[in-house]
Amino acid sequence: MNRKAEGTKIDHPHHQGPVFAYCPRCGAGLSARRLRDHEPERLVCDACRFIFFQNPKVAACAIPRVDGKIVLLRRGIEPSYGKWVYPGGFADVGEQMEEAARRETREEVNLDVTITGLVGVYSYPGYPVVIIVYKAEGNGDRPSVGDETLEVGLFGPDEIPWDDLAFPSTVQALRDYFSRREDG
Ligand SMILES: [Zn+2]
Repeated sequence: MNRKAEGTKIDHPHHQGPVFAYCPRCGAGLSARRLRDHEPERLVCDACRFIFFQNPKVAACAIPRVDGKIVLLRRGIEPSYGKWVYPGGFADVGEQMEEAARRETREEVNLDVTITGLVGVYSYPGYPVVIIVYKAEGNGDRPSVGDETLEVGLFGPDEIPWDDLAFPSTVQALRDYFSRREDG
C-alpha cells in the first residue's frame, strides 16, 4: 500500500525541519505541490489529498534572576553541546507558554521561578523554531544541575560568556534583557 513519495523534490536544508514521505492520515505518499502562487509548496497526499502543513515549533525560555545575577546553564545535548544558554525548551501542544518556561527551568536547573515579563520573541528566515524568552525571578532556591545540563552558573551583567553562547537568539535576548534593564 505504502509507496514512496514521488516528485517530493523540495530542497529542505536540515535546519528547516524534518521532511515527511508518507501521509499521516492514510499512509500513501506525499508530494510537494504549489497550491497557491504566493505560498510555499505544501506536502499533499497522493491518495486522500490531505495537506500536511508544516508549522513552526515554539520554544519557551526564561532568564531567571537569583541574588541579582542571571542563571545560565551549559547545554548537555546537541545542538550547541557545551555552550551557555538560559533554561528553555519546546512547549507541548496546549501548554501555556509561561508554564512551559517555568517547567523547563525546573527541569534544567531545579529552580522554581515567577515569570515577570517578556524579553522578546525571536524568529529567523528558514529556521523552524520560534523562541519566546521571559524575564523571571527565582523563588528562593539555589539553582543546580538538572536534566540535559552540564553546569549551572550565576552571571552578572559584566560576566556573560558572550563568545560561548549557544544560539543567535541567546545573544540577542541577553542583549535585549540587559539593555532594557539599563534603561530602567
Ligand atoms: Zn492520505
